Amino acid sequence: MSVADRVRHSEGAVRLRAKWVLPIESPPIENGEVVIEDGRITQVGKQLTPTNASHIDFGLSALMPGFVNVHAHLEYTVMRGLLEDVAFFTWIRTLTTLKTRLSFDDWVASATFGAAEMLAGGITTVADACDAGASLSALLVSGQRGIVFREVFGIDREPPIENILAALKRKIADMEEQIERHHAEERLSVGVSPHAPYTVSAPLFGELAAYANSKGYRQCVHVGESPAEVALIERGTGAFAEMYAARGIDWTTPGVSPVRYVSDTGAFDAPTLAVHVVHADKTDAELLASKNVAVAHCPKSNGKLGAGFAPVKALLKAGVTVGLGTDSVASNNSADMFEEMRSAVFTARAREQNPDALTARDALYMATLGGAKALGLDAQIGSLRHGKRADLCVVRLDGLHLTPTADDNPVAALVYAARASDVALTFVDGRVLYETGTYTMLDIARLRPAVAQIRARLFREWQKEAKRGA
Ligand SMILES: [Zn+2]
Repeated sequence: MSVADRVRHSEGAVRLRAKWVLPIESPPIENGEVVIEDGRITQVGKQLTPTNASHIDFGLSALMPGFVNVHAHLEYTVMRGLLEDVAFFTWIRTLTTLKTRLSFDDWVASATFGAAEMLAGGITTVADACDAGASLSALLVSGQRGIVFREVFGIDREPPIENILAALKRKIADMEEQIERHHAEERLSVGVSPHAPYTVSAPLFGELAAYANSKGYRQCVHVGESPAEVALIERGTGAFAEMYAARGIDWTTPGVSPVRYVSDTGAFDAPTLAVHVVHADKTDAELLASKNVAVAHCPKSNGKLGAGFAPVKALLKAGVTVGLGTDSVASNNSADMFEEMRSAVFTARAREQNPDALTARDALYMATLGGAKALGLDAQIGSLRHGKRADLCVVRLDGLHLTPTADDNPVAALVYAARASDVALTFVDGRVLYETGTYTMLDIARLRPAVAQIRARLFREWQKEAKRGA
């Protein structure tokens, strides 16, 4: 009988045991146990008081909180591997053009496929920035927890801000209605994502923060990502400035750092997650901390797009909450939080030229409880503790690449060598959503050919686009 069936058919509590239990808030427990009941964690420890709970032993495995992926664009999953080895400006411009060629159903298939990949890698919570709204459709069926941030763009005088706001309010009302209809209010919520300083005007940033505050929504903003963005904001030069000039877009160069500029617009007056923050100094880090702005650190995406390495050590030192994000697979190419954890450690150490810059424990914290804090969800998830939601993953530790590290140092095994394919099971709210290649909520056999078909069409468009550009 599968674990999913055993959990489903058990009456009352279920006792889970593994070689290592990682509560995150306290050191790993050897031969530890976690008891779950009614979707929550009721006990964590060693040889817990015998209950009549049914008992499942995962053997040489790590039982840990599910990963919290603080930044993704599930809708772009079908773009994986399409735009390789191009500069940031070309990458984002081509992506924007290709986006117009997909239908809503295409977006839903793409986003759902992305959600499946994340579930298989132990990701139980996703903070997604979406344009079409399809990420919500994906998370409604996949069973994961998440915040779906609706993206907003508007750098030009047209359309007027009131029209942009009215359209956003309609979209958000529709999303909230879907969440309610699916009785998913406990696990899904909506947010607002003013896209970035080069696609959102200063007055629009201010209006969106006021709107988010009035409704109690969180925001997510890309800021300080690329050298092209820094050139525009600090000096008024580079590819974005040239594009503005060609399109007749009004632009007064702020002459300050991207973080300072976005803050000056009033954007950080609502609870905000700043994504990337690669180009920021100590003063920016202190500003973010003073505004209680959390950071989504996406080291693999930043490396692949040649953006740079975020100053994680300075951010943490200033008191900023940092979580880890995969970003979209169009710039990554896999949604694997193990890779993000080790990339975070390696890039911090490379940047500081210091092996103490970030530890494996720091990275594991950022991928779980740090991420939960960054999203304001730490009372519910992010660590194994009595009363929290039973969002868990089981990672097999018997792979050759984890041997013999896992015998005595599970954190090093997970951060430095494990990979998404080592994940055996993923639970959300105490329900098994993924178990060794099998999904309880998703039909992967139907999704795979659908995604291949959309991609074939997109690839033809991309070739046409490339010919036109040549
Ligand atoms: Zn992003």
